[in-house]
Amino acid sequence: MHSLWHSSAAEKISEIEHDNETTRAIFNQHSTELWQEYIEKGMSVIKQRITTQEKPFSGILPAELAAQFKHVDLTQPLFNIDRVLEELDQLYLRDAVYFHHPKYLAHLNCPTVLPAQLAELFISAINSSVDTWDQSAGATLIEQKVIDWTLNEIKLGADADGIFTSGGTQSNLMAMLLARDSYCKRTYRDHNIKYQGLPGDANRWRIFTSQVSHFSIQKSAALLGLGYDAVIPVACDNAFRMDVTALNDEIERCRAANLIPIAIVATAGTTDFGSIDPLSEIAHICQQNNIWMHVDAAYGCGLLISLQHKARIAGIEHADSVTVDYHKSFFQPVSCGAFFVRNNCHLEHVTCHADYLNPLSAKLEGTPNLVNKSIQTTKRFDALKMWLTLRLMGQQQLGAAFDTLLNLAGQTHQRLSQHPLIDVLHQPELSTQVFRFVPKQLLSDEKVDAINAEIRKLIFREGNAVIAGTKFNQQQYLKFTLLNPATTLAEIEEVIDLIVHYGQKLTASYLNAANQ
Ligand SMILES: *Cc1c(COP(=O)(O)O)cnc(C)c1O
Repeated sequence: MHSLWHSSAAEKISEIEHDNETTRAIFNQHSTELWQEYIEKGMSVIKQRITTQEKPFSGILPAELAAQFKHVDLTQPLFNIDRVLEELDQLYLRDAVYFHHPKYLAHLNCPTVLPAQLAELFISAINSSVDTWDQSAGATLIEQKVIDWTLNEIKLGADADGIFTSGGTQSNLMAMLLARDSYCKRTYRDHNIKYQGLPGDANRWRIFTSQVSHFSIQKSAALLGLGYDAVIPVACDNAFRMDVTALNDEIERCRAANLIPIAIVATAGTTDFGSIDPLSEIAHICQQNNIWMHVDAAYGCGLLISLQHKARIAGIEHADSVTVDYHKSFFQPVSCGAFFVRNNCHLEHVTCHADYLNPLSAKLEGTPNLVNKSIQTTKRFDALKMWLTLRLMGQQQLGAAFDTLLNLAGQTHQRLSQHPLIDVLHQPELSTQVFRFVPKQLLSDEKVDAINAEIRKLIFREGNAVIAGTKFNQQQYLKFTLLNPATTLAEIEEVIDLIVHYGQKLTASYLNAANQ
């Protein structure tokens, strides 16, 4: 820039536009060649990794990986795209956890479909923010169309509406917020939480949900000023579904203690067991008691498009609100979730009109400003991923993939139940299976717990498979979550062999230690 002071005004502008490094790095009409070069170089690094990656994880420990980050000084740029990508490959890709790998069987992370990957390119290139029409235009209509398509599968009725969210946690927070504020609105005509905060008796409001529902319900209650204690855990039957007799008893007990039920959260697909609460019976209880019914279908939403098992989610159409995670059961990249409500007028509880952004006048003119329905302001155009997926693949293909998972889970259950050294805890309703290794030799409960915890750690350290763990009745269990339709039964059998191999090795070492 040394010559800037000596050149004419026109030259100055042209230098700023074309010679300034920063200007050149900005995505615009002048930089599409460089943009394409970066993307293509990035693509080959990814392609190289994915095609040669043999394991879902390298097994590296946090301290080992952290040591490699020590020499990176973010104040000292490398300035060279090849060196930057080489560094990224070493620091991130080499030791990433790969959800597309057939032996990644741990959490609710799915492999992603190609049209959604393509959508990510458009999402960042155009960078629309789906909050106001004047920041999104067509993106707003695409999001609304995907919302309406989903609503058509849920069947919440003519007044229903929804909004994309960052995922199940945010959707559940919205559900609890709407349940709380709509209860207040219909009970205290002159009290508005949005303006005045919680009324005096809000500490008596209660939310009912099963013992094995997602922790984001408790978290939401805390964030909403009701507290963890406002969430009443309801007992489950032996298939981990909410026990409606227990639910009725808890509601009775609360009323007798002068507490006020405001919401019941049913789970359609619990995180650990995939169990589906009896939605229609719970809906009936909600109607009788005039209580908000939320269905958390973050995981079970895949059933909405299932070709064979859609009936398993019947009753969801009675909900006042619903949580859906496309990034779990619709094979979408993170983040991709949505929240739905039966009566769109309840969305007013998250509406806040800002003069600079979404004035009331715009709403009255009919401008679709999705920010009026969201707790976010700037919002990613995640809906495009579902749009391209539906346009290119179609919902039948997605639904068939989900069915494949349910069938695979059934076969996995059979294999595990037949195994003499494995105890299974439940029949899978979706695609998770909780089980544990139980040695033939008599060992204390603590040792069997320790063995199961160790099996999981050893497998993770070795990296040939990734499995999850959970607790039930204070006992340590292992868990498979099957969300990869490309995983074969043979591959699952190999992982079972690995579990048993480590289980037997650990048992032997415990017995040896005891004999010494
Ligand atoms: C995963 C999950 C959530 C949380 O969703 P995120 O997308 O991780 O925020 C909520 N409920 C259930 C049942 C889940 O499985």
